[in-house]
Amino acid sequence: MLYVQEKPIETDAVEHKYFENELAAIAKFESIAWPHHPVCPHCKHQGPVYDLSKTRIGLKKCRRCCKQFTVRVGTAVEASHLPLHKWLQAVYLLCASTRPVSVQQLQRTLDITYKSAWLTAKRIRNSAGYIRPIDID
Ligand SMILES: [Zn+2]
Repeated sequence: MLYVQEKPIETDAVEHKYFENELAAIAKFESIAWPHHPVCPHCKHQGPVYDLSKTRIGLKKCRRCCKQFTVRVGTAVEASHLPLHKWLQAVYLLCASTRPVSVQQLQRTLDITYKSAWLTAKRIRNSAGYIRPIDID
């Protein structure tokens, strides 16, 4: 069941720099996921890591196990080709809206394909423990 929303979502709030800029989005996501130090998703080591951002944006290498990782590893956005700033926009739109957001609305707002919007919404709702309301009719 998809929600159809008649009124457009207020997009003024979606104008933070981390909603528009990939580097700012990665920095924001890292500050949320790792408030003190990066945590290696492979060996759970906390502390300084090698910064391989010159190789790929946001890429890090653990000093203990020497495996590479980004802040995406182990999250709902892992293995997604959608840029992180669009993920943050999608999370904001789905969680901050007072009314349900349709996949079509997400597609138009983020300027992505319907399939990407559907998968993004599904992952966010599953991660948030969203339970679809029962359709009584
Ligand atoms: Zn490690």
